[in-house]
Amino acid sequence: MSKLQAIRGMNDILPDQTPAWQFLERRVADVLVRYGYQEIRMPILEQTELFKRTIGEVTDIVEKEMYTFADRNGDSLTLRPEGTAGCVRAAEQHGLLFNQVRRLWYTGPMFRHERPQKGRYRQFHQIGVECFGMNGPDIDAEVLLLTARLWQALGLTDEVTLQLNSLGSAADRQRYREALLEYLQQHQEQLDEDSQRRMATNPLRILDSKNPQTQALLSDAPALADYIDQDSRDHFQGLCALLDKAGLAYTVNPRLVRGLDYYGKTVFEWVTDRLGAQGTVCAGGRYDGLVEQLGGRATPAVGFAMGIERLILLLQTCEVLPESATADADIYLMTMGDEAFGYGLALAETLRDALPERVIINHCGGGSFKSQMKKADRSGARLAIIIGDQEMTAQTPTVKDLRQGGEQQPIAVSLLADHCRQLLA
Ligand code: ATP
Ligand code: MG
Repeated sequence: MSKLQAIRGMNDILPDQTPAWQFLERRVADVLVRYGYQEIRMPILEQTELFKRTIGEVTDIVEKEMYTFADRNGDSLTLRPEGTAGCVRAAEQHGLLFNQVRRLWYTGPMFRHERPQKGRYRQFHQIGVECFGMNGPDIDAEVLLLTARLWQALGLTDEVTLQLNSLGSAADRQRYREALLEYLQQHQEQLDEDSQRRMATNPLRILDSKNPQTQALLSDAPALADYIDQDSRDHFQGLCALLDKAGLAYTVNPRLVRGLDYYGKTVFEWVTDRLGAQGTVCAGGRYDGLVEQLGGRATPAVGFAMGIERLILLLQTCEVLPESATADADIYLMTMGDEAFGYGLALAETLRDALPERVIINHCGGGSFKSQMKKADRSGARLAIIIGDQEMTAQTPTVKDLRQGGEQQPIAVSLLADHCRQLLA
């Protein structure tokens, strides 16, 4: 090994970034709990077969993006590229779906061998939600209102918009696929390279090609909406009516298809124009056939996953992270000499009791007041508390406001916590 280097496309999330991650994860978890969701934690590795059977053999993910390897006993294992397959596997294996509805959520790393770029990585993180056992548009609407509340909790409501579509049933998509292919075959030479390849594998994905010429060509193509059955139409209309009633704005995007085979009926994406090409921050839909396809009882389901990296980028781009989502300290306590250190150590504990929401750093490792002051400044702390022999004897630690200027002031130790609380408020 020549140079210490992480795997390409796999990022360390460094201490100056983790406060933003914690902010996001906490806010999202709070909202999910309030809607009655239960957390589930699955392994990162699953049998390769599970992903092939769920995501689909001819999808981008299974064709070229999976991290697959042979276990020591020869089993083919894959680092999960998404969470739905493992969640369904776990729920089914442990009988969580039998005669009951479930609202589940999970979070963790996912792995896809893609070309790394801004907002696209080989290890990335999702928070996912899966609801089982409910087949009406009621739960679809609830899920979408939940996502809207997530953006509200994160301060992103003005940055994202909702796109909706219905993919109909598997039979509808099969009929539509044939019609679309027939149309595209007449214009094959005008299609971009990627789309030409998809004609043989997954022609529906051509609909969301980013190529302008391909998009122009598609404006005269048969429309999926004309091929979906009455049941899917009613479902979609029901959903739209519920969203209208709830006042949640959306755009119907007839070209919205998802990259995974298991979706049918409702599909949706929350997109932003602030992140360039990687503008989808949350995506999901209904997958009523998946549980049965994996050998369980037919169980309707709907879910979504959001990309944490993209949401963090968005929070940073829009500068909506609250001040609390930083790693900054509030109080930096410095002492001179062994005895004062012991005194300060105990005092810091008292302050932590009195100010439970504040970050208090106790300077360790000695050094002059000057060098301690430099570290206090670098910690981002608003206040320094300084204790030498004199302050200790007089029971009056000195408090200095490091950001607003002002004199340093001796404060009676009994009043110290209140004094700090006031200054920090
Ligand atoms: P895209 O069209 O951007 O490739 P996708 O359709 O492959 O997305 P999904 O499988 O639906 O994405 O995953 C849900 C969300 O996870 C995406 O909307 C995105 O926010 C995030 N995501 C997907 N792939 C990556 C990746 N390689 N790096 C970072 N985030 C990702
Ligand atoms: Mg993708």
